[in-house]
Amino acid sequence: MTQAIERLTNLSTTPAFNRLQCKECGAEYEPVAKHVCEECFGPLEVKYDYDVIRNTVTRETIEAGPNSIWRYRQFLPVSSNDPIDVGTGMTPLVEAKRLARRLGLKKLFIKNDAVNMPTLSFKDRVVSVALTRARELGFSTVSCASTGNLANSTAAIAAHAGLDCCVFIPADLEAGKVLGTLIYNPTLMAVKGNYDQVNRLCSEVANTHGWGFVNINLRPYYSEGSKTLGYEVAEQLGWQLPDHIVAPLASGSLFTKIYKGFNEFVDCGLVEAKNVRFSGAQAEGCSPISQAFKEDRDFIKPVKPNTIAKSIAIGNPADGVYALEIAKKTNGNIEDVTDAEIIEGMKLLAETEGIFTETAGGTTIAVLKKLVEAGKIDPDETTVAYITGNGLKTQEAVRPTWVNR
Ligand SMILES: *Cc1c(COP(=O)(O)O)cnc(C)c1O
Ligand SMILES: [Zn+2]
Repeated sequence: MTQAIERLTNLSTTPAFNRLQCKECGAEYEPVAKHVCEECFGPLEVKYDYDVIRNTVTRETIEAGPNSIWRYRQFLPVSSNDPIDVGTGMTPLVEAKRLARRLGLKKLFIKNDAVNMPTLSFKDRVVSVALTRARELGFSTVSCASTGNLANSTAAIAAHAGLDCCVFIPADLEAGKVLGTLIYNPTLMAVKGNYDQVNRLCSEVANTHGWGFVNINLRPYYSEGSKTLGYEVAEQLGWQLPDHIVAPLASGSLFTKIYKGFNEFVDCGLVEAKNVRFSGAQAEGCSPISQAFKEDRDFIKPVKPNTIAKSIAIGNPADGVYALEIAKKTNGNIEDVTDAEIIEGMKLLAETEGIFTETAGGTTIAVLKKLVEAGKIDPDETTVAYITGNGLKTQEAVRPTWVNR
């Protein structure tokens, strides 16, 4: 990758955050726009000095912070005292009593990112962090390869921050996802092909144009934003960890970062240690991680996606093996469900809890139900299901035939 893209000149860091590190070989790098290790091609991750964080962050300092993801700023890879704060995060953690009763659970919570700000999906978290870092590194144009929600977030938050924006999506996305991007007036590239093909195209563009791609060359920063889904649940449960979580898997990043977030809170003395079980949800029509789990493989065989759950339809998941490892070592599961079960899951959550989620959330609820029925979630476990997107964006999935199109 070229020096121009890495923006070596503008290297703002903090005492707690000043390096990237390869997840595979441990090689360290300056915190620039770089996501692949030069030694072994492994993925790079942000490295922190937890002694610094432990000495400055307490439950009280967090509680005194803003009502957004930026209350956890010391755990995020930015140096700015003025991050891009569009009110992202601190979404409701709702005790789902009626759904719990229906499923036969005793203590079930929904982490409701269907109402995350500003674009109604958890992607606002990762984009708020990535664009704050992009601005620090001196980028004026930001971009992404998206399954839909990421395009919405990148376009909206770039508009707020005054950054130029060019987003790439598969051409067959839901109308709500396309409109929810276009309204912010970015350059929108609709590519004939699936997400994995769009992503490959974008990797080439990132190498030649010097743009900040939130989920490619800025991926180490972007992915850290998902940790806030772990921090918030711990804080909202009264500074404790749940027994079991169920979350959707696309690239697997979100899943692995909830895990990292919980562990950082334990390491920094903010919550007591606990073996939280991590279970992952996929759509049968795009289930490479679930298939690997069921066949007890430690590698992923890429698939060609074919499901209504387009926001999580990644056939070649970048963090798939790490998600697999976490599910196995925490004694969790990875399961997949059919499109019909996904629609049932959307309806079940709406009817029991008054939450209208998109197909990804339907996948999570359907997998939750399947795991309970299979005895793989104990009724006594405090369980949190992560709802990551809003149903108004994927109306096609549940629209009755008598509604005008
Ligand atoms: C992107 C996305 C996910 C999961 O993303 P990862 O790539 O696994 O981090 C889950 N739900 C929704 C609604 C999404 O848009
Ligand atoms: Zn390496």
